[in-house]
Amino acid sequence: MHKLNTAAAALVIAATLCSQEKNPGYTDTPILPDGFRVHDANRPRPPVVDPGPGAETPARAPKDAIILFDGSDLKAWRGRKGDAAWKLVEGGAMEVARTGDIQTREDFGDCQLHLEWMAPPPKGHSQGRGNSGVFFCGRYEVQVLDSFENPTYADGQAAAIYGQKPPLVNVTRPPGQWNVYDIVFVAPRFTDDGALKSPAKLTVVHNGVVVQLDEELLGPTSHKSLPKYRAHPPRGPIKLQDHGNPMRFRNIWVRPLRLERFCLGKLCLRS
Ligand code: MG
Repeated sequence: MHKLNTAAAALVIAATLCSQEKNPGYTDTPILPDGFRVHDANRPRPPVVDPGPGAETPARAPKDAIILFDGSDLKAWRGRKGDAAWKLVEGGAMEVARTGDIQTREDFGDCQLHLEWMAPPPKGHSQGRGNSGVFFCGRYEVQVLDSFENPTYADGQAAAIYGQKPPLVNVTRPPGQWNVYDIVFVAPRFTDDGALKSPAKLTVVHNGVVVQLDEELLGPTSHKSLPKYRAHPPRGPIKLQDHGNPMRFRNIWVRPLRLERFCLGKLCLRS
């Protein structure tokens, strides 16, 4: 009897592991407005598209960009307790050092961000493999994940708006190669009494391919729960996530965008 129970338990564990491998995700999380669950195990994963090889050396930043990281130092960043403590490594890169998230000292609202990232040799699977993230206003995450031949739930793979919108396609380059994100973030607007006036929006180009186009966010990105807006200042830090994996970043720059228009009759001007 005991042997039978043990065998049955082993079978259940094996089946669970198998389903985790095949279809990582959840079947008991809240349902998003698009009908899928948050991190839905049964949501179709985006098709894979080969973006071709990346550039050996990073492209130069535009003249009006604010350089957040060019390989020389981490002065533009701070950690949870003071200076950013991620490692400077070869090739003008920095590496996650299991010292916690880092974030820009300066705050940004509407902006264009360029950032390049590289995953280490594969270790682990799904969300445990090559996980990091870039957060706007410290709250809205574009997922960074080694999504090269690494199935995970669709709204958690590379270039997903985490827990909300999978990318249109999966163009992740293999570990050891540089991935490039060019992201346009439009911050949410709130009324004086804290109600949402307009949601945050994200456009993401991953390795030269549009994967998110002017997507409206449902609120701050979150794990296993439905997002909900809470009023916050129009600008906040850009944050990079320490998820415990030795991810690398290089060539990070940002261009604040002036999107507000003021109109007098038919004449409209940017601020
Ligand atoms: Mg992440």
